Amino acid sequence: MSKHRKVELNASPEMTGIKLSDPKGYAAGAPAVKVAMEHVVSEMGTVRGLKTLAKLNQKDGFDCPGCAWPDPDDKRSLLGEYCENGAKAVAEEATRKRVKPSFFQQHTIQELSTWSDYQLGRSGRLTHPMILREDSCNYEEISWDEAFAIISKNLKELSSPNEAIFYTSGRSSNEAAFLYGLFCRAYGTNNMPDCSNMCHESSGVGLSETLGIGKGSVLLDDFEKSELVVVMGQNPGTNHPRMLTALKDCKKNGGKIITINPLEEAGLKRFKNPQSPTDMLSRGTTITDVFLQVKINEDISLLKAIMKKLLDIERIDGGVFDMKFINGQTAHYDALTKDLDKYNLQELIDSCGVEEKLIDQAVQLFAEREKIIICWAMGLTQHKNGVANIKECVNLLLLKGSIGKEGAGTCPVRGHSNVQGDRSVGIVHRTSPGLTKSLKKNFNIDAPQEHGLDTVHSIMAMYEKKAKVFVALGGNFVSAASDTLYTAQALQNCDLTVSISTKLNRSHLVAGKVSLILPTLGRSESDRSGSKERFVTVENSMGKVHKSQGNLDPASDHLMSEPEIIARLAMHTLGEKSEVPWEAMATDYDLIRDKIEAVLVGFGDYNKRVKNNEGFYLPNNARKADFSKLPGGKAQFSVNPLPDHQLEEDEFLLMTIRSHDQFNTTIYGLDDRYRGVYNERRVVFMNPQDMNDHGYSKLDVIDLYSEYEGKLREANRFIVVPYQIPRQNLACYFPEANMLVPINHFAKGSNTPISKSIKVKLRPHVSY
Ligand code: SF4
Repeated sequence: MSKHRKVELNASPEMTGIKLSDPKGYAAGAPAVKVAMEHVVSEMGTVRGLKTLAKLNQKDGFDCPGCAWPDPDDKRSLLGEYCENGAKAVAEEATRKRVKPSFFQQHTIQELSTWSDYQLGRSGRLTHPMILREDSCNYEEISWDEAFAIISKNLKELSSPNEAIFYTSGRSSNEAAFLYGLFCRAYGTNNMPDCSNMCHESSGVGLSETLGIGKGSVLLDDFEKSELVVVMGQNPGTNHPRMLTALKDCKKNGGKIITINPLEEAGLKRFKNPQSPTDMLSRGTTITDVFLQVKINEDISLLKAIMKKLLDIERIDGGVFDMKFINGQTAHYDALTKDLDKYNLQELIDSCGVEEKLIDQAVQLFAEREKIIICWAMGLTQHKNGVANIKECVNLLLLKGSIGKEGAGTCPVRGHSNVQGDRSVGIVHRTSPGLTKSLKKNFNIDAPQEHGLDTVHSIMAMYEKKAKVFVALGGNFVSAASDTLYTAQALQNCDLTVSISTKLNRSHLVAGKVSLILPTLGRSESDRSGSKERFVTVENSMGKVHKSQGNLDPASDHLMSEPEIIARLAMHTLGEKSEVPWEAMATDYDLIRDKIEAVLVGFGDYNKRVKNNEGFYLPNNARKADFSKLPGGKAQFSVNPLPDHQLEEDEFLLMTIRSHDQFNTTIYGLDDRYRGVYNERRVVFMNPQDMNDHGYSKLDVIDLYSEYEGKLREANRFIVVPYQIPRQNLACYFPEANMLVPINHFAKGSNTPISKSIKVKLRPHVSY
């Protein structure tokens, strides 16, 4: 990397002028409608915007590019099946602004790197394939053919296919992801890290080992049938807003909600559904019945305290646990009870930091109810003990027999719209004998026999120059990954980095020696082959596969669909020796779906079942309480140790969180309305007593640093915001605080980065 290619990674550390107000007491309502419409109108124009929103999440429309929350199976609301953040996601993608080749002539990558993620995102849609040549500081236009020739030349020149990394974000369709997995294996590597490695991998591992499937077991309808929904480590009001409707449905039918989280979030206090005139004119629906403000990553202590208290009642009175289910369908119950007996109740209560009287209220709800759902997101998964957190939730559900029946089960809430589908159609870095056999039979592909690299190990391989080519199917890798400076160096060590993208982002600036941007279609755009309109399919958080078809004119005539990009890359790289009908599949996606059906289980009648606009559910053994593939044919109780953080007096445990104006790495604005923070992202939320003890005042500017194995990582210039967060806990926004997450610290068993429990220290910021 030449010196003149040095770029900034601190995502614009300039302060933008903070304003604070009290945190909000409810989510959605009129302000949500107003903000959503402002985004849509300013980015898309009124008529185009409203026409597009009318198709969002409708059966004959396109799937929201935001989160993976499901749509109702039956009829959809004509008022709109989307939330504020879904509307923002569409406005972002369907903006009228364009990043043309002339933009890159005007701005060097060094200059662009000083822009914030927010500014970069607002530049508009990419319109042409672009190349950053070696030692150049400006991207320039390149033809598609030349771009493919450069990638295939680099891939062919590697001494082993395992020197290439093929990353997938959760935006890609099933069709694109299947072709991508096919290409990687035909080329000769399983190096297929994906965004799931960074978020819900702990869920996948924990659920697979205990229930035999790495996905949740509930359906959307289960929420209205549930007697008790527990929401843990999750902020649905911002990250999965339409989930609040499901929680409201649960309440309407007499169900109760327990919320377990270090922060009390507005969406879990009260919800004013914009589609309900009654809600809009009233105070809305109170969501949470019992709020347990647990310390960061002390969920296992809390769950053990709850189970221990339930076990005491069971031993005295009986009738609390589902002993018929436990005896007939599970293994290792005795090991679990023995483990619970080992702990001192008061120590568990002290560790989790929750008042005992509130724990007792929760215990009473668990004791009285049988149909229980536990929902969670990254507040549980992104810790060293992320897998254990999930297994402890399963323990509680198994005690209550709350698996495999209506109104009950597991609900890991997925962040990106098709992250689950990508995995289902073959984006996985581990080998699978069944898939290998099937690929041989259907395509005569000899898939590699060794496991590939996941996200953190891909980054390490690039950092150590063992991997030299990085291809990203969507996403903003450098911002999403942990240990920003290390990850940036890893990417900059590559000979070639390739981004298949819709919009400009920081990863385009943190480039390999040569870097390519391949512009692709967005979800909201029509995908044509000649005169024929094509559609793609996706899988939502509850395992339903359905159609998605956009109708806007593409942002540029030079865009190519993701399946076509992958097919052409495969044809350039594999040439005549490949027996895969790449060109035919890229032209006609029906053929891709036919092949998915032939290769993978559960996709029978794929084309037929998605063309009728209804879609279908993939098989789910836990939903049917079928544990036949697990040892002894039984669901597995597990024994999970307590996390051990051992904080010094001047140490804090930091979690990264999302603001209300962002979706993953996409920043829609600088406000976090629900938490009362406006026009600033470089903030650190801190307990007022901690501020007092450590001599900090509101709006002081401080630096945060972490030190693991003697390596110092720093994130400078954050404004102190007093907030009701447990003592010795802190929260900062992702991705600004990713700098502090050590690359080599990740969840045991899943390798998910510890983005929610980073040990940090603070110091006043000194300006020079
Ligand atoms: S809840 Fe998620 S999928 Fe639904 S509209 Fe909102 S962001 Fe999109």
